[in-house]
Amino acid sequence: VYRTNTLPLENSFATLPPAHYTALMPTPLPDPYLVCASASTAAMIGLDFAETASTEFIASFTGNRLLANSKPLSAVYSGHQFGVWAGQLGDGRAILLGDVPAPDIEPSGRLELQLKGAGLTPYSRMGDGRAVLRSSIREFLCSEAMAALGVPTTRALCVTGSDQLVMREQAETAAVATRVAQSFVRFGSFEHWFYNEKHDELKTLADYVIDRYYPYFRNSENPYKDLLTEVTLRTAHMIAHWQAVGFMHGVMNTDNMSILGLTLDYGPFGFMEAFNATHICNHTDQQGRYSYARQPQIGEWNCYALGQALLPLIGDVDETQAALRIYKPAFAEKFEELMHAKLGLKTRQSDDRQLFDALFGILQDSHVDFTTFFRQLGNLQPANSDSHEDLRDLFIDRAAFDAWALQYGARLQQENSIDSERKLAMDAVNPKYILRNYLAQIAIEKAQNKDFSEVAKLLQVLEKPFDEQPGNEKYAALPPDWANDLEVSCSS
Ligand code: AMP
Ligand code: MG
Ligand code: MG
Repeated sequence: VYRTNTLPLENSFATLPPAHYTALMPTPLPDPYLVCASASTAAMIGLDFAETASTEFIASFTGNRLLANSKPLSAVYSGHQFGVWAGQLGDGRAILLGDVPAPDIEPSGRLELQLKGAGLTPYSRMGDGRAVLRSSIREFLCSEAMAALGVPTTRALCVTGSDQLVMREQAETAAVATRVAQSFVRFGSFEHWFYNEKHDELKTLADYVIDRYYPYFRNSENPYKDLLTEVTLRTAHMIAHWQAVGFMHGVMNTDNMSILGLTLDYGPFGFMEAFNATHICNHTDQQGRYSYARQPQIGEWNCYALGQALLPLIGDVDETQAALRIYKPAFAEKFEELMHAKLGLKTRQSDDRQLFDALFGILQDSHVDFTTFFRQLGNLQPANSDSHEDLRDLFIDRAAFDAWALQYGARLQQENSIDSERKLAMDAVNPKYILRNYLAQIAIEKAQNKDFSEVAKLLQVLEKPFDEQPGNEKYAALPPDWANDLEVSCSS
């Protein structure tokens, strides 16, 4: 078990040539305080959780004090934003402190610690290098909630705050979130070297990523093709998970796409509530490029952008396209698997797709709350119509629900599904608790008044999303009317 002062830091990323990053110091914030910390993330790196209350910890993870052997740096990358080449971006407010041992993490056995909001960097462009308390709490809670839902994601160790003001639409206080992942390398890290025609650096980065995160491709015939295939596969699987829990990322730019297939960069994200496939969670995304229904195809588009960047290394257009071809079937297969589990179906039949499509159709027509629906579906007993009165009441068009429920009931009977067993299996995959915008908002408003108890409470609830949690049912409630006016944008 480590203390803040004994964390054995290295910085593997700093072994890359200097062109890949800028070494720099975080900018301190006045009188920082702890807002929240994750015990499970602390456990992954063997950090004593009691430490998170210490002044050493708070100072270190605000950027006011350097951890032993830390070589802080900000990485350079580029990317496509909203489908358009945006040129150089880079860590405009993120600073990598280094990596620490994490014995359970395959394959590197280490996790990187990154401060977000720790001050200006050479890549800050028009920004101030800071993050506000509101968005830092959102990133913290969602990272941990997604991990508990079983969705591949970067993690969050803590958020610290300071009374220093930063300007957004209005003045807000500054905060620093500490993110944790094996790597923060993005598709845009590769695009950067491709578009700058620096193929040596491109190769250096790809070899580094393969060596450390995909070591089994080191000696393969075309490691770069294997890398593209694997990243494409992981991306497809990640997005299938998003669709299955109703998660909308909001800014699926190529600079926010992880080379490890992790959900990366929580900004104007949202979870689907009243179902609408064309829902846009990011207020800034006027075209709806990143709407719920488009996420799967945008994921593929992003893999093509990565494929383009890796083409000089793969060496052949056909090989590159062959690698990318895995996306559609991988997404479809994973999504089918997750949908079967959500509906409690153990077998697969050729017309199941029709059952799923019909379901999304009635959810859309009645704008049913996505999470509530799937959770309550576990109560449905085909032979007992009393069992699904509450479920039926979620629909404006109850006849449409009845028709679908008949079809679903018949499908269950075909595989001799046992109601009690199925409910247990469905409750283990259909969460009761998700990070609804209004829940985050309540916790944020309290935190803005220095009461951090609701952030801690919400974290505790979201860490066990599949448990019934007697006494915490109000965290599963539908959004109140005031939540209709909540808007999230890229401003964070
Ligand atoms: P995002 O849309 O959050 O992925 O951010 C896109 C780019 O803008 C990245 O290079 C970020 O580092 C940068 N950025 C966002 N907010 C800020 C900020 N407040 N200060 C500096 N850079 C920022
Ligand atoms: Mg980003
Ligand atoms: Mg962001």
